[in-house]
Amino acid sequence: MNAAADLPEQIDYWNEQLRGAEPPRILQWAVDRFAPKLTMATALGVTGCVILHFLAKITPKIPVFNIDTGYQFPETLALLARMEKEYGMTIERRTAGTTAAEYEKLNGGAVHLTDSVRCCYERKVSVLEQTARQYDAWISGIRRDESPSRAGTEIVSWDKKFHLVKIAPLAYWTKKQVWSAVIYEHIPYNPLYDQGYASIGCAPCTRPVQTGEDERAGRWPGQAKTECGLHPEDVSRINAQL
Ligand code: SF4
Repeated sequence: MNAAADLPEQIDYWNEQLRGAEPPRILQWAVDRFAPKLTMATALGVTGCVILHFLAKITPKIPVFNIDTGYQFPETLALLARMEKEYGMTIERRTAGTTAAEYEKLNGGAVHLTDSVRCCYERKVSVLEQTARQYDAWISGIRRDESPSRAGTEIVSWDKKFHLVKIAPLAYWTKKQVWSAVIYEHIPYNPLYDQGYASIGCAPCTRPVQTGEDERAGRWPGQAKTECGLHPEDVSRINAQL
């Protein structure tokens, strides 16, 4: 999708209309406005599971995909299968075209150990770049209270990197609201959360967090990196730059 000249105003208008709306209403709006050119990417984190739960009540037909880097936890892949069964949805596993073993063989070892930026680009970001071309909008589970880098997240923004509209139905929800929904609506979630993980990505690059750490502190331990490149910037700044 190309950014039309009036898109910034339109995005401001949409955010105004959706301010204070609960996630199911935001998702209904997204489906009405963008389907069939609407997709959702999920790593099966708790926010993704909550969104899938709400989305399935509206329609199980929105194309949902998981970027399968080859390094996901077995628990994540088991949850993916469970969500598909529970909600009658298909969650397509999209890959960079090689298995993790093939990728490592091609590169003489594990790239995530020597260059995690490159590994994230080649195993994740490039997959979303390919997928994004088919759609006008995508749904993401990011929230303002996850980390300082996500504190400016708006419900609707222009994704300058992937050239489509990005919708974050849980942008204004807190961690507490997310887990309340999981408990009261009996939403399946990754058992790794019960082992201290707070944000779940690839197994080699994720550790449990300690009390008081932000939710993304367990990603890429020992590195300054906190994002894989799918959500690279503060989206309120992106909107301001349009
Ligand atoms: S999170 Fe780690 S293993 Fe996964 S794509 Fe990024 S660097 Fe590679």
